[in-house]
Amino acid sequence: MDTLVRGGTVVLESGRLRADVLIRGSRVAGLLDPRESAGFKARVIDASDLLVLPGGVDVHTHIGIQFGEFTTRDDFGSATRAAAFGGTTSLLEFAFPEPGEDPAEAVERRISQASGQAVIDFGFHAAIAQHADADALAGIERAAKLGAPTVKVFTAYRGIMMLELGDVMAVMREAAKARSLVMVHAETEAIVERAVGELRERGIADARHHPQARPGIAELDAARSVLRLAAETGAAVYLVHVTLPEVAEEIARARADGVRAYGETCPHYLFLDESVYSTPHGERFVCSPPMRSATAARGLWRTLGTSLTGVHSDHCCFDSEQKKVYASDSTRIPPGLPGVETRMPLLISAALSGRLSMPDVVRLCSSEPARLFGMQGKGSLLPGMDADLIVVDPRARHRLDGLHMATDYTPFAGMEIRGRIETVVAGGEVLVSAGRWVGEKPAGRYIRRRRLEA
Ligand SMILES: [Zn+2]
Repeated sequence: MDTLVRGGTVVLESGRLRADVLIRGSRVAGLLDPRESAGFKARVIDASDLLVLPGGVDVHTHIGIQFGEFTTRDDFGSATRAAAFGGTTSLLEFAFPEPGEDPAEAVERRISQASGQAVIDFGFHAAIAQHADADALAGIERAAKLGAPTVKVFTAYRGIMMLELGDVMAVMREAAKARSLVMVHAETEAIVERAVGELRERGIADARHHPQARPGIAELDAARSVLRLAAETGAAVYLVHVTLPEVAEEIARARADGVRAYGETCPHYLFLDESVYSTPHGERFVCSPPMRSATAARGLWRTLGTSLTGVHSDHCCFDSEQKKVYASDSTRIPPGLPGVETRMPLLISAALSGRLSMPDVVRLCSSEPARLFGMQGKGSLLPGMDADLIVVDPRARHRLDGLHMATDYTPFAGMEIRGRIETVVAGGEVLVSAGRWVGEKPAGRYIRRRRLEA
């Protein structure tokens, strides 16, 4: 039987319209004039006085991964369920190769891990860590053939993830040929190492001093180098978790010069600032790069939709127990924050408070990432697209509690949120109704993504 989401205001990146959404199977069959759909025989989801948005697309998550001696508390089952509760109906994760694996083999392994567990659609980014040898480079094309035309590299974390700039450049050359997007964690390791050394000498390398351990200049310096290499190689480049408006401006400048340069930021860099490290549990906020000044956070808001084209979670689900083991040494605290469930509520709330428009939220959190990352069928509710949508009550107010992520804290605890996600539909199936889980067996499918346009 068809489903009709009736009586709501549909929000698209181009604007709002009063329309009923007709769902047939797993797709949107039409946006109907409310008078037209009056006599329709369908299962009805009542959206009267509510907003209907495309489901969130989160292109930056880490699920069930190991970092040193710590493994995140979640798996594809729990993480995708939490994502759905938070209005995200598809996500992209990373496939970091294990010893002996090439990037494409890692993608295959991760697809089989997620299949049968994920309750929403999922895809993967290939990754190259430590050495860009011939096998790894050839894996970029093989991964693109598998539907993973993105490759992640790090300029930081020596001995664990880091690639030297020569290797980054080699990756870019291959990626340009394969029409894959190069995603970069940009921080200059040598600057971080020097800063950490100095803090250690003074005996203050704890969570409170985390922002000094990874200073803004490390991010700006690496971003400039990487953008320059993209110009040199013709690669398309995407800077993950941008924390500084200055870095966003560098991206915009590169784009004006003809480089295919993109960037995202994350909710924690918009809604929080470095003062969190002076709170009693500063270690719970340790991520890299760190939160910056309140001025930088304010500046980042102005880059949304212009120099930065996405807001993604960088979800990494450690709990407070894991965070506190090495609270006195910020370099050993497992970095990353839980956030796959809170991204959409925070952005929707910001729109309802007038900080940006609701179509902006759709563009930043769904439409633009779906396009850039080649996710056909995602990011819009136009006819023919996947029936991934959320219904939001714009009048509700609540605090971020009762979350579903596999952890015991949120960095946004106590924040007042405007708007509440009442209903979540993914692939035509209702997963959340009146805020309660009603989904049946895990039906998330692997998203075979398209390569960048030539
Ligand atoms: Zn990340």
